[in-house]
Amino acid sequence: MTGVHGRIDDLDILPVRCPQCQECQNTVPRGGDPMSAKTEIACMVCGYAFQPMEYRRLLVERQKELQPVQLGEFD
Ligand SMILES: [Zn+2]
Repeated sequence: MTGVHGRIDDLDILPVRCPQCQECQNTVPRGGDPMSAKTEIACMVCGYAFQPMEYRRLLVERQKELQPVQLGEFD
């Protein structure tokens, strides 16, 4: 399921699940590198702002969540 969240696809990062509304639609309000701890990442749906460490933790969880369905080339 890709190509749905236009804005985040442009940045080529995996949207994480928002702890507040459970949606996986992130936005980078002021732009910048999403992998940088200085870049603000927020939920596109409810406006929740992720903390840098929280974002990374959620990203790892999200990747684990998606692996069984999306990755067939994992050795
Ligand atoms: Zn949200």
